[in-house]
Amino acid sequence: GRSVHQIQSGQVIVDLCSVVKELVENSLDAGATSIDVRFKNQGLESIEVQDNGDGISPHNYETLALKHHTSKLSTYSDLTTLQTFGFRGEALSSLCALSHFSVITCLAKDAPKGTKLEFEVSGKLKGTSVVAAQKGTTVIVENLFNNLPVRRQELQRNIKREWNRVVGVLGQYACVQTGIKFSVSQQAGKGKKTSLFSTKGNQSTRENIVNVFGAKTLTALITLDLNLELEPTSGPSQRWSTQEDGGKKEIRIVGHISRPAFGEGRQTPDRQMFFVNARPCGLPQVAKAFNEVYKAYNSSQSPFIFANIELDTHLYDVNVSPDKRTILLHDQNRMLENLKVALTELFESQDY
Ligand code: ADP
Ligand code: MG
Repeated sequence: GRSVHQIQSGQVIVDLCSVVKELVENSLDAGATSIDVRFKNQGLESIEVQDNGDGISPHNYETLALKHHTSKLSTYSDLTTLQTFGFRGEALSSLCALSHFSVITCLAKDAPKGTKLEFEVSGKLKGTSVVAAQKGTTVIVENLFNNLPVRRQELQRNIKREWNRVVGVLGQYACVQTGIKFSVSQQAGKGKKTSLFSTKGNQSTRENIVNVFGAKTLTALITLDLNLELEPTSGPSQRWSTQEDGGKKEIRIVGHISRPAFGEGRQTPDRQMFFVNARPCGLPQVAKAFNEVYKAYNSSQSPFIFANIELDTHLYDVNVSPDKRTILLHDQNRMLENLKVALTELFESQDY
């Protein structure tokens, strides 16, 4: 029968996309500068995420995949200034319950050997063995949802849509992370491994976009760099201000957007990506504001948008739902008004 642990795990890892997000974010948290994501049969057979990050210390092997074990957060107050992606210690424990799960890790740069860790469904360490490895960690997820038959069938049935979402979200991390070499590949059956895209690390978001979406995209983009300064107000939003900043909020939105009125035949990919401090997130209100302003200049096409909102961590809340990517921007309505004004100014300043 199904255990409570399996059912709860199915709420943390809901689909292929959540597996990929959790593993990539763990690699980012581990300080990786190179992340290689490999799929077999679009993830139905396996998902492997290899990084060159810190690796895992032997004293963490036993607890690694136990529920609520995390190395990332020591006090509750840290939640308000969250810098890492992870903090709940639920992803690996859930993956143990929902797949055949293993980890290969190696701490030292020059050590030729690493350790392979295998886990029981409960998250308990089953055994370790010595294997060849490079510095960093590889997490291997095979047969996702093998013990939740309905979920597995649903995944198989919707694999085309799921796959598009997964590739989309990996493209977002690859574009926004300028210091990281990303590569994504897929192997169908016993066929040849094919590369979907790779970025080089130490390059601009523009160069990342070329690597992910192709060079044609760029010719149609203009640079976004909007500074929204929100003056302090009285009222409820005041509670977010701190002594030091006197309630003033600096919000910067950087990235790229389609040049409006660009003429026929030079369509940009219909993609819109939003980030808060380089975290991919769905921000429907922000998206709406962008699209509204754009529409006044080009009513026939929706824009390519790559927008990273940079703001102080005390100006938004993460962690309001089990899916920690629900982000609440404080004083969002005022921010949106300022955004629309700044965006209009940007478009007005363009020569066509
Ligand atoms: P969380 O990220 O919330 O801490 P996870 O279940 O995702 O919880 O991971 C549990 C722990 O495993 C992390 O706190 C970290 O110590 C370790 N870990 C996971 N992935 C990696 C990785 N790629 N490199 C190094 N350590 C990792
Ligand atoms: Mg994590």
